[in-house]
Amino acid sequence: MKAEFESMNNLPATTTDGRTVELFANVGSIVDVENAVTRGAEGIGLFRSEFLYMENTKFPTEQEQYDAYKKAIETMKHPVIIRTLDIGGDKELSYYKFDEEENPFLGWRAIRISLDLKDVFKTQLRAILRASAYGDIRIMYPMIISVDEFMAANAILQECKEELRRDNIPFNDSIQTGVMIETPAAVLCAEDLAKVVDFFSIGTNDLTQYLLAVDRGNQKIARLYNSFHPAVLRAIRTVIQAGHKYDKLVGMCGEFASDEKAVPILLGMGLNEFSMAASEIASTRYQIRHLNYEHCQALADEICKKSTIAEVREMLEK
Ligand code: PEP
Ligand code: MG
Repeated sequence: MKAEFESMNNLPATTTDGRTVELFANVGSIVDVENAVTRGAEGIGLFRSEFLYMENTKFPTEQEQYDAYKKAIETMKHPVIIRTLDIGGDKELSYYKFDEEENPFLGWRAIRISLDLKDVFKTQLRAILRASAYGDIRIMYPMIISVDEFMAANAILQECKEELRRDNIPFNDSIQTGVMIETPAAVLCAEDLAKVVDFFSIGTNDLTQYLLAVDRGNQKIARLYNSFHPAVLRAIRTVIQAGHKYDKLVGMCGEFASDEKAVPILLGMGLNEFSMAASEIASTRYQIRHLNYEHCQALADEICKKSTIAEVREMLEK
């Protein structure tokens, strides 16, 4: 089966009735990018930049980050979506002391840290901008809860652009900026966000945790952590519809995007880009190439009407 999957590496992820979606990879290092290329990824949907910070003994310099991002785009040669620093929650840095927090997942993390530590954020944005001179690099902000945060982040990006322009350093002035949709607030504000962003990427790992109020790392309540919960499915549909209303592409970089049972539903909802561990790409491509988009649309419509997890599960079994 594996050989059959991989024989399709160079074929597009097109359904039997002609709907094509993009299959991107989630990566955390350059080695991962090389692996993604080998495994037929059509782009990088999530470059987890926090690894550059976590594997270091100090905040990585602009040059160090620039080298990494440039290598990533030169290796991939297709879109690379770099998520800005997503630290906090359960991810710490050995060289930076975080205050003790009662609820770290509801605390100082991701874009909140970037907006507070402006110098650290600017160093990263300048590095990404400089690397954008070499290909289609896009910026994605994590853990966004409001349009205000997106605007604040983009205002800092604008400052970085002006500095680079003044110093005659090349960059892509029309670099795309998007947001991860991983909080309930972002879902409820999806239409407002869709008006101002270039793209969405749904982070179902966190979105499931925050929508269901279930700690994603707590084994005791692991049985409650379920992305097939009607609330999560409806949230995903809301986000896709909001994005499409304003002609924005909607991707997903949470684990759900490569869940064999979820793929037909997500396809039917109109998801444009599926980003996953490189090892999942071949089997997902194979699956999509055997699915019918119209049938998937009908399935997605039906499944969003279900009011219990049991009914959703029953329908998926069928
Ligand atoms: C997510 O939350 O779905 C996601 C992709 O980000 P992470 O798992 O790194 O929090
Ligand atoms: Mg997340």
